[in-house]
Amino acid sequence: MKFPFPKIDLHFHLDGSMLPELAWELAKERNLKLPADNLEDFREFIVLTSDCESVYDYLERFEMPTMILQDKDALTRTAYHIIKHVAKQGLVYAEIRFAPQLHTQKGLSQKDSVEAVLEGVRKATSETPTIKIGIILCCMIAPDNINREANFETVSLAKEFYGKGVVGLDLAGPEGFVPMKEYAELFKEYRAAGYPLTIHAGDCDGPASVNEALNFKPTRIGHGHHVYDDPKVVQRVIDENITLEVCITSNIQCKTQPSYKEHPIKKLYDMGVRVTLNTDNMILSNVTLDYEYEKAMSELGFTYNDLIQMNIYAVEASFMPEEDKPKYIEQLKSYLQ
Ligand SMILES: [Zn+2]
Repeated sequence: MKFPFPKIDLHFHLDGSMLPELAWELAKERNLKLPADNLEDFREFIVLTSDCESVYDYLERFEMPTMILQDKDALTRTAYHIIKHVAKQGLVYAEIRFAPQLHTQKGLSQKDSVEAVLEGVRKATSETPTIKIGIILCCMIAPDNINREANFETVSLAKEFYGKGVVGLDLAGPEGFVPMKEYAELFKEYRAAGYPLTIHAGDCDGPASVNEALNFKPTRIGHGHHVYDDPKVVQRVIDENITLEVCITSNIQCKTQPSYKEHPIKKLYDMGVRVTLNTDNMILSNVTLDYEYEKAMSELGFTYNDLIQMNIYAVEASFMPEEDKPKYIEQLKSYLQ
């Protein structure tokens, strides 16, 4: 293994990380139509379509996994398989996120979907104890905030299942469709009670979206790389000890950054921002954490030790129990060259 140190992924969507073999199997069992006639072509379709016109085009690609993930068995097996898969790649901890409200089209409740995913986590981690998993529940941005009630239900589930496999809450979806400030009420009570929060911002939307998201007191920002466009927001991110969950290949595929070379993550790192490297949608983006690390070294100028430091940042900002963190940090430090 090229990067043998313990690897952490904090930004990892369940529906974007469904293995093609499993998607194929689940779709067949459910008589669902996939955009290919055989598994080989289906694999190719995923790779070929990994480049998108825009982040909105990219979000449309979630229709296929969403169509499949409408029963407990599909959710359990998807969580199980992806955890086994990343454990083999040397991940020791990952926070996997999904939006319960997207899995209620065929009668599941949001709660059913949470229980189904947690069942897959339990099964995979009992068989493969080298990896620990935390589940993050996503609230969704939707036009005109039509899913307001569903979002409140997700927040209450995040509290109900906190410490039982769920570790935090997120806001995902098409940034900018709804002004960030409209979510103030959604997160207010949740954060006041001290539960962990991360928010997608500053990806297809600019630094102002991060500035507004920071008013909700998250620990982390999903993506957030556009803070670079406003030095005041960069300073605020540093002052408030915010960690950015950056997913470089996904950003380029979504055209929210033009290329690896022009991605500002290394500049942010050098300015003292706590940045981390993550996969976002491992399968739909056709990446692994090792691939992201290779790009970070070959195209962005990160050193091997920088990669370890970013994993230390990831542990520190993770939603795992505080008492578990020193062990991972010690292990990571032992790999510094
Ligand atoms: Zn994301």
